[in-house]
Amino acid sequence: MTQLQSLRGMVDLMPAQTHRWQAVEAIARAHFGRSGFKEIRTPILEVTELFARGIGEATDVVGKEMYSFQDRGDRSCTLRPEGTASVVRAAVQHGLLSQGAQKLWYGGPMFRYERPQAGRQRQFHQIGVEWLGVSSARSDAEVIVLAWDLLASLGLCGLDLQINSLGTPEDRQSYRDQLVAWLEARSDHLDADSQQRLTTNPLRILDSKNSQTQELLSDAPTLLDALCADSAQRFEAVQSFLVAMGIPFSINERLVRGLDYYGHTAFEITSNQLGAQATVCGGGRYDGLVQQLGGPVTSAIGWALGMERLLLVLEAAASADPDGVASRLTTSNVPDFYLVNRGEKAEASALVLARKLRDAGFSVEIDDSGAAFGKQFKRADRSGAAWAVVIGDQEAEVSQFLIKPLHAEGDEHRLALEDFQDVVGILQG
Ligand code: ATP
Ligand code: MG
Repeated sequence: MTQLQSLRGMVDLMPAQTHRWQAVEAIARAHFGRSGFKEIRTPILEVTELFARGIGEATDVVGKEMYSFQDRGDRSCTLRPEGTASVVRAAVQHGLLSQGAQKLWYGGPMFRYERPQAGRQRQFHQIGVEWLGVSSARSDAEVIVLAWDLLASLGLCGLDLQINSLGTPEDRQSYRDQLVAWLEARSDHLDADSQQRLTTNPLRILDSKNSQTQELLSDAPTLLDALCADSAQRFEAVQSFLVAMGIPFSINERLVRGLDYYGHTAFEITSNQLGAQATVCGGGRYDGLVQQLGGPVTSAIGWALGMERLLLVLEAAASADPDGVASRLTTSNVPDFYLVNRGEKAEASALVLARKLRDAGFSVEIDDSGAAFGKQFKRADRSGAAWAVVIGDQEAEVSQFLIKPLHAEGDEHRLALEDFQDVVGILQG
């Protein structure tokens, strides 16, 4: 029989990797909790219209990247390509917005039909936050710092925070007109994608990945110059909050989220460890989205970070500093005890003891091989455990076991099975 393979761009997370994911997830969960963000879990499958309205028909995500199909009831369904639209839908559907501002976070798989490469998959994972019902400049800074501090607490280095302001809808309209006029006069120099965007989504040309287009844009009019006085002042305020918190950032006038209901603050955190797919986290203010999805007029801001890219940066940080936080997070958990056992009676005793130790909170790996003691001890060494617990038939006969250090110097101890709790004292030395 031929073997079956996973779909292109759909990646298995193997046991050697999952402990890192769990470590990051646990840190993120605690981090969000300390800032009052609560988890929300929404379905992976939604009606296609949610994303068409929530992300916008003119975007690459909706136009080219969605996994959509008709279900058996002939409804058009889509595997979620991002989390914000679903979170907003759920908040509106369940009337959360009438209960004051909502601090929400989510995590899980997202699906986009893109060309797979390092840091880019078709099923990938995001962790994100949405803060619904806040409009202050301070909330923008607080949300940005929530992302920054999470990444910093993971021991990541080489991170760069870039911010921009997209202003009000009126600011963007006047800028769009300026930009289109300027680009139309130079459209022969634009790549094909950007030429098409001139009519559909001109602001998105600003973050074109085409180098010739980027070069052309270096002389183009900028969004910041088109901001009205209030928008400019608001952007100043966001910056001064970041400065007050000592967060380094730079302004990137080309940073856009090319949709009408994104406005004011937009930001990205990139890493110098990732090559072309450098953005780890992206977010911004989206004051128009809730209404766009049928809810009450509600200001909101949020961000999403890509777990796969985060893990790549984490691994780079771990190899750069073997004693750092990232390194601790990437080493796999070793068992507290490796249980060496041989003989009929010993095998049963080993099972009994392992259960007791596990129940007391220790992790125990039992050697299942029945091989000679020497071989089992080799495996015990390789397991990384600090201690071996040893039971042969001789020990089992008298309901005892031995505990001995595997790496450090130290004495072997003999304990009665019923006194297994005494291992605590031995471990503490
Ligand atoms: P990019 O420009 O890299 O395609 P994006 O603007 O499409 O990113 P967002 O929609 O803002 O990305 O998603 C937030 C984050 O999710 C990104 O910064 C990235 O870390 C991650 N991400 C997005 N698409 C993918 C993907 N196909 N594979 C892995 N991670 C992804
Ligand atoms: Mg993308």
